[in-house]
Amino acid sequence: MTTQVIQSADEMQQICLQAKKFQKSIGFVPTMGALHQGHESLVRQARQNNELVVLSIFINPTQFNNQTDLINYPTTWDQDLKMAQDNRVDYLFYPPAPEMYPDHYEIIISENNLSKQLCGVDRPGHFDGVLTVVNKLLNITQATRAYFGEKDYQQLQLIKKMVAALFIPTEIIAVPTYRSDAGLALSSRNLRLTEPQLQLAPLLHKTLSQVFDLNLCRQKLEDYGFKVQYLQDIGNRRYVAAYLGEIRLIDNILLEQDSHEN
Ligand code: AMP
Repeated sequence: MTTQVIQSADEMQQICLQAKKFQKSIGFVPTMGALHQGHESLVRQARQNNELVVLSIFINPTQFNNQTDLINYPTTWDQDLKMAQDNRVDYLFYPPAPEMYPDHYEIIISENNLSKQLCGVDRPGHFDGVLTVVNKLLNITQATRAYFGEKDYQQLQLIKKMVAALFIPTEIIAVPTYRSDAGLALSSRNLRLTEPQLQLAPLLHKTLSQVFDLNLCRQKLEDYGFKVQYLQDIGNRRYVAAYLGEIRLIDNILLEQDSHEN
């Protein structure tokens, strides 16, 4: 079967409810498109472990607090459709915004703790937008399992928390960050980096991993030309958000103290 593109939320939900009636497992991968190998690694896992695979592409307006970022968000529809087909995605859910927000965003899912930290500090309301749309998407797709990347580790933790808090019967599967050979976490926003910025970008992960002392790590990143928004250790994980020019990059690593130098 080739990939079917569905734009109506009701139609998508009917298809998934019907599949559920026949006890079919549904693997769901939510994305904002401009698909790359990181997204593909999520789709591959979904394909391996489920009878039906639903991939969504929806540039969710409510999670952008910067309109320029929303307007400039890259789109590569033809490539995305091909990736879906090549990976035997059954349904590509591609709704226009009014399909997802019949309530005009008057119903909102909010979290009051972790969502206020890290990315939440400089992007107020961002995680409300993320949680609200993921909740809608899980209800529409009736997902048995939903796949999220560790690249957006804070987002992953918040989604796990929401699913537990709201008794949503979907298993959340975490997929490791997919990196370029140089160590750069793949991201749709990388498409907007200039050639010289692309050369610099892998230094984010390299410095994060190699310079254990936080002040020194920040200093080195600034020296390379990153404008660090936050650099913080929480538990055994280190999180960073930094700008290269206009482009905001995020990354995180597991801290293994023994392997770091100062
Ligand atoms: P996005 O399209 O950026 O909203 O991402 C959709 C999903 O793909 C999210 O769960 C991301 O965490 C995940 N993702 C994006 N980039 C990567 C990557 N480099 N490695 C693994 N997962 C990723």
